[in-house]
Amino acid sequence: MSPRSRIEQLRQEIRRADQLYYGEGQPELSDSEYDALFRELRDLEAEHPDLITPDSPTQRVGAPLSSGRDAVQGDHLAPMLSIESLTSADEVREFDSRARKHLDLPDGTALRYAVEPKFDGVSASLLYEDGALTRALSRGDGARGDDITASIRTIRDVPLHLEGPGPFPTRIEVRGEVLLGRTAFARLQQQLETTMETPFRNPRNLVAGSLKLLDPKIVARRRLEFICWGLGHVEGLSATTHTEQQARLAEFGFRIPEPRQEVDDVDGVLAFHRDVEATRDDAEYEMDGIVAKVNELDLQRRLGRRSRAPRWVLAFKFAPRRATTEVLAITAQVGRTGAITPVADLAPTELAGVTVRRATLHNWGLLRERDVREGDSVEIERAGDVIPEVVHVHTERRGKGSRQFEPPEECPACGSALETEGAFLYCLNLECPAQIKGRIVHMASRRALDIGRLGPKYVDQLLEAGLIAHPEDVFTLRERREEIQALDRWGERSYLRLAEELEKAMQPELARFLYALGIRHVGETTARDLAESFETLDALRTATIEQLQEVDGVGEEVANSIHNFFSIQGNLRFLEAARDAGLSIRSPKSAEGPLAGRVFCFTGGLASLSRDDAQRLVEERGAKTSKSITKKVTDVVLGENAGSKAEKAKKLELRTLDEAAFLALIGRAT
Ligand SMILES: [Zn+2]
Repeated sequence: MSPRSRIEQLRQEIRRADQLYYGEGQPELSDSEYDALFRELRDLEAEHPDLITPDSPTQRVGAPLSSGRDAVQGDHLAPMLSIESLTSADEVREFDSRARKHLDLPDGTALRYAVEPKFDGVSASLLYEDGALTRALSRGDGARGDDITASIRTIRDVPLHLEGPGPFPTRIEVRGEVLLGRTAFARLQQQLETTMETPFRNPRNLVAGSLKLLDPKIVARRRLEFICWGLGHVEGLSATTHTEQQARLAEFGFRIPEPRQEVDDVDGVLAFHRDVEATRDDAEYEMDGIVAKVNELDLQRRLGRRSRAPRWVLAFKFAPRRATTEVLAITAQVGRTGAITPVADLAPTELAGVTVRRATLHNWGLLRERDVREGDSVEIERAGDVIPEVVHVHTERRGKGSRQFEPPEECPACGSALETEGAFLYCLNLECPAQIKGRIVHMASRRALDIGRLGPKYVDQLLEAGLIAHPEDVFTLRERREEIQALDRWGERSYLRLAEELEKAMQPELARFLYALGIRHVGETTARDLAESFETLDALRTATIEQLQEVDGVGEEVANSIHNFFSIQGNLRFLEAARDAGLSIRSPKSAEGPLAGRVFCFTGGLASLSRDDAQRLVEERGAKTSKSITKKVTDVVLGENAGSKAEKAKKLELRTLDEAAFLALIGRAT
């Protein structure tokens, strides 16, 4: 390949990666892979300067602007530059000697550096005017960024007004990294999985995705953090060194990087790199290297910048945790919430102290693009404690007869047809054996049916004991008292608590129940909107895609997902079984239906409906029900063998209905 076409190819790949990284929050290349492409391009351009074009990724700062439809943008007062990324001690020494030469320092004079970890998060620039936070921008292309003020304001580490007695700088741009700790990430990952949203690959993806959310309430729940590493534009703050600036920022109430240090020379930079790299696995935040800044601000100014990066700051990356191994097989794995992902079974290999046997291929689009095949020799990489991923295929070592891997057409666990959504595949069957635990845990979660006793451990136990085989078995657990009480860690009290929680859970509000179903894209808010529009599960179940889309916030994707959900036999079986078990869903507008204001009392048996169903039907139409005849009762439904309540109704001169009249009233003629 000619240098010209290789350069073009590299530029295209880098642009595409930028788009995914900054535009969609789900990058496909690992960082070191990206860096490798970038370095190759930079080196090639250095060899062939005539091929450099102004639009080459090496010639600009940062990344393209996000094309998010609702993004409002703003200008950075001072550009947000990139940092030169180095990977060897030699390169760091070279950087240092270049800088000393540029400053014309006498031989033997060392440059002092401020060193700190390079956190792997999302950069942001916060503008404070007279002490008050007035705007926050993402990095964007370095000159302009997206306005993320609403999201940033939800981060607790971000002071809305600078702390301390003042006076405060007239205008400063505080720059830092939005991060999510590993513990918080693990917890959120679990939550997002149970709400069936696409899980994020790593904390940085999650942060990037969160900052794009337009609803600050959701962002607030994600508990993002902010650590500030520097300043952009400065008016009215005097300092002579970076360290001094950091100290002022700490006084203003910001968190500044830990560990950090001031070192006497380039050897100090290298030593700090060694120390921090040795502890990276235990650190709460993902970091991919260290940053060293010439500490004196005056020297920084004198050093200035080249087109893309300042001459006074460097990033010394940590070694990527990579290894080469062989793909023994590719399998489709059903996640506990129905996402079906390709996984590579690998020839066991050592990687940063861990034996790795599997790597994720993330999704079918990525598998197709990287074209990973069984028998391939591949590079895998592990970031933090995340599952390793396949980052490169040695296609040149591939033997004849290797075949591209095709995604499955049906669920490998239950055989259901799969829903395709872009690069993702999902099994939506509630009765899928691979998902039963995840489905039940989600169904029982606090915002769904709120059955506290059915946490993951106990669900496991009930599954093992054979007391649950399908999700609907949850609704009949009350009938298994003896067996449950005989289990380890269960006794009478635990059983009674479960029974009590179940009783409440049997009469959920429609919105909660919809959320509990775990329909893809139907989170709590959508569930509430749907419940308010359709009022009954039957109405929702039989709605057309067009009718679904009439609900605020329900687009084509969501409507399709709901429609597909109700077309799966296993799901309909579940709903029927749940009703048979006595589940009675409450309508959200119980005061606004056609029967609003009326109170029904049932007596005797109905031939065509169970008592529970009859109650549910009137409740869904806005009426209330009463177990006994009181003064509030307006209607008494008389079934067979009605007995004493019929007498009482007559005495109180209440309206009475027989079964046929009742069915006519609720629109269910026989
Ligand atoms: Zn399945």
